[in-house]
Amino acid sequence: MRIGIISDVHANLPALEAVLAALGEVDALWQLGDVVGYGPHPDEVVARLRELGAIGVRGNHDAAALGGGGVEYFNPEARRAMEWTIERIAPATRAWLEALPERVEEGEVTLVHGSPREPIWEYVLSGWVARQSFAAFTSRWCLHGHTHIPVAWVQDHGRISLLEPGPGDALRLGQERLLVNPGSVGQPRDGDPRASALVHDTEARTLTWLRVRYRIAEVQAAMRAARLPPALVARLEHGR
Ligand code: ZN
Repeated sequence: MRIGIISDVHANLPALEAVLAALGEVDALWQLGDVVGYGPHPDEVVARLRELGAIGVRGNHDAAALGGGGVEYFNPEARRAMEWTIERIAPATRAWLEALPERVEEGEVTLVHGSPREPIWEYVLSGWVARQSFAAFTSRWCLHGHTHIPVAWVQDHGRISLLEPGPGDALRLGQERLLVNPGSVGQPRDGDPRASALVHDTEARTLTWLRVRYRIAEVQAAMRAARLPPALVARLEHGR
């Protein structure tokens, strides 16, 4: 089976469509939360993921869009975009977001947005948090998003190491336990503005990162038309 793994789409339809085209035929699509927030296409992105039967979890922006709180922790631009999102989303979008669990276990894999310890909010940005995270799930590996940075934490006999994969790099699944981030589809923050995603080949037992160009100007124009904050419009072309 080939499984597409995406995270942090953030209501960016051109980025999502470019990633889907690059993934080609997949047997399943897993999404790791923050489907909405920041971007101009929340209803369109949710409709597309629903049509594709994506399996996945709720992120902090999804929770905020449902009135679940947390907006007080957002920076002013993120908060303005969230207020716009809350006003705009259709009942069908809301219902789909409401049905997303905080955590999904699929065989040897756990899916969360932030960390397995605190699925909605915690960022895995240090070896210390990675170590706590490995103690908070029992499957062989865990997929997460939230930081918008493609990385893999590897736990091998108690030692934790960090891999920073480039486009096309593959990780072979062995005995080690893994905490893997596909990067962000709709708002990358590692300095590369291209959409980021993962493909899992269950027979070859590999995870491969991909980076995909998309029409950034198109989503920026839609953001300007929606009067979303200029700082959010600008950051897309810098990947920061
Ligand atoms: Zn996010």
